[in-house]
Amino acid sequence: MSVFASKSFDDHEQVVFCNDEDTGLRAIIAVHSTTLGPAVGGCRMWHYDSSDDALEDVLRLSRGMSYKNALAGLNLGGGKSVIIGDSRTLKTPDLMRAFGRFVDRLGGTYITAEDMGMTTDDMDYIHESTDYVTGLTEGKAASGDPSPFTAHGVFAGIQAAVEHKLGSNDLKGVRVAIQGVGHVGQNLARELSEAGAEVIVTDVHEDNVRLVCESTGATSVPVDEIIMQNVDVFAPCAMGAILNDSSIDRLKASIIAGSANNQLAEERHDQCLFERGILYAPDFVINAGGMMSVANEIAGISVSPEQGHVNVEVIGAMLSEIFTSSDNNGHATGAVANALAEAKIKTAKNKDEASSQAA
Ligand code: NAD
Repeated sequence: MSVFASKSFDDHEQVVFCNDEDTGLRAIIAVHSTTLGPAVGGCRMWHYDSSDDALEDVLRLSRGMSYKNALAGLNLGGGKSVIIGDSRTLKTPDLMRAFGRFVDRLGGTYITAEDMGMTTDDMDYIHESTDYVTGLTEGKAASGDPSPFTAHGVFAGIQAAVEHKLGSNDLKGVRVAIQGVGHVGQNLARELSEAGAEVIVTDVHEDNVRLVCESTGATSVPVDEIIMQNVDVFAPCAMGAILNDSSIDRLKASIIAGSANNQLAEERHDQCLFERGILYAPDFVINAGGMMSVANEIAGISVSPEQGHVNVEVIGAMLSEIFTSSDNNGHATGAVANALAEAKIKTAKNKDEASSQAA
């Protein structure tokens, strides 16, 4: 498929296809925008059905990063990378180092980090080939795994959504279904259980489900039943495109608030949710906690884990404003968030153009 003809192409600045014969690495790096700063976004390792699917994913994810970083007030652009393959069977330290060499060749235009299928160890291997990697375990301002910060931001977002929709931010007795209990989902399940919520989980990996149920008291359901659980909140914390024509009809939750990127299969599903009275916390707003954490590492600012957790709680307030604006203006929440992010990027672009004309 041609990049330019792809339905997810959105004036991306650069798309790089990476192939390393020795390690079998096949990856794609997409730089969507560097208007606000270097393009930062995680690397995902996933067993895509085809390279076209991987291309679509990285194009959408990188655009989402531009919006996420802009709305979170970070001086960072948007980029993302995907490695094609099963992370449980195909990942090796050499593969990670090879990926790092491709990131290095971009000279800092793109800075990578952890996403699905990746760990902090992987970031350390990548670091052996490049400095353009964040979420490290050692070094100046190393911030480690961003997932607990992402999860805490999602927790704050769920509180804000529950307050807006149900009238109180007390999560005691609130029922939450979490789809995917990997790095983010596990931390989220723990926080929700500690706050007294009733948590139901699922995952394609049975070991992840067992771990979470044993440690938090959550209950589990089969993978294909999570969407229709009779809950207050559905928290997608796995793959994207989960909010589509078929799933929206089956949803019983009145709130959608989770960490997964690109939850809407198509932009129009934002409006479908709005019309059905389902409060959707836009994914790139609610899942910005991890980026807020790694942004400090990129800036060389050391932040304690405690302070890092407090910092991401601002996500609750950001969402409350979006929910209120949606109510007042009659626009779906995703559309409200998109407009805010686009305005920030446009303002920065206009400033850049004005200063280069003045020079
Ligand atoms: P992860 O790989 O650690 O966990 C994802 C989990 O989802 C895995 O346990 C996997 O088995 C499970 N899963 C996959 N497909 C599933 C399905 N169909 N049904 C149920 N479970 C399924 O990834 P993560 O880091 O926890 O990220 C989860 C989501 O949040 C991703 O969409 C990611 O892009 C997004 N996100 C993560 C971060 C972060 O800090 N890690 C930040 C922002 C956004």
